[in-house]
Amino acid sequence: MKTPLCEVDAQREILCNECKKRLDEGSLSDLDIAISRILGRMDKSFPISSVEFKQAIDLNEMIVMVCEGNIGTLIGKKGRIVSEITRKVGKKVRVIEHTKDEKKMIQDLVGGARVLGVNKIFKPKKQEYKVIISRFDEGKLMISKENLEKGIQQLLQAETSVEFR
Ligand SMILES: [Zn+2]
Repeated sequence: MKTPLCEVDAQREILCNECKKRLDEGSLSDLDIAISRILGRMDKSFPISSVEFKQAIDLNEMIVMVCEGNIGTLIGKKGRIVSEITRKVGKKVRVIEHTKDEKKMIQDLVGGARVLGVNKIFKPKKQEYKVIISRFDEGKLMISKENLEKGIQQLLQAETSVEFR
């Protein structure tokens, strides 16, 4: 299974220079590494080679794994793989699909609360996002607004604010 760690590092406890550099730069997190290694060890016994694990997002109360490919194999078979990761990480895990459709990804991340819009705000030299969530669904959010903003920020790699409207 492809992970943000190189294949060699997913099977061992040390990092090669290239992965170490990406960790220092912040494009790879400690959580990405931990989950990549869990998956690296599971790979042989679980049929997950058709999935790519892109990124883990820590929402405090829960961890979101952003994956591409046949994600059904991760959550299928009565969720064995997800529950194995939950057991090892000690937090609830949700798998979402990585797509080019930002609104869909954010909706998957948010869960039961309706995402009404994702607005791009263009600023000099950078891009920011404003995510509008239905104020009627504020109670359906499983996490705090602050954690949600942090999570979407990680997902989109850009500054994000959440607004209830
Ligand atoms: Zn490496």
